[in-house]
Amino acid sequence: MAMADYRLCDVCGGKAFYDSNLNYGDADRQSYRIAGKEQYDDPAMNEKYGTTLDYVGDWAVICTDCSDKYETQIVERAAQQSKGDDHG
Ligand SMILES: [Zn+2]
Repeated sequence: MAMADYRLCDVCGGKAFYDSNLNYGDADRQSYRIAGKEQYDDPAMNEKYGTTLDYVGDWAVICTDCSDKYETQIVERAAQQSKGDDHG
């Protein structure tokens, strides 16, 4: 599937940039989050199948079309988790 070579927009799912040359992996590093969310809800699944990308810990990507209406934000993780994470 051709879309697999692209990092997709986190809003619309459309192509954001060509990423097949990026150093994705499943090495010993911690898997990255996408817009603050783990790749898998199940921590065991995330540890086993989560993808790494060099030293990326979390990222959000918005395509040019969606950037007219949306923006990315960086906020402290503790503040973000308090919204709905009730097992802390
Ligand atoms: Zn988009």
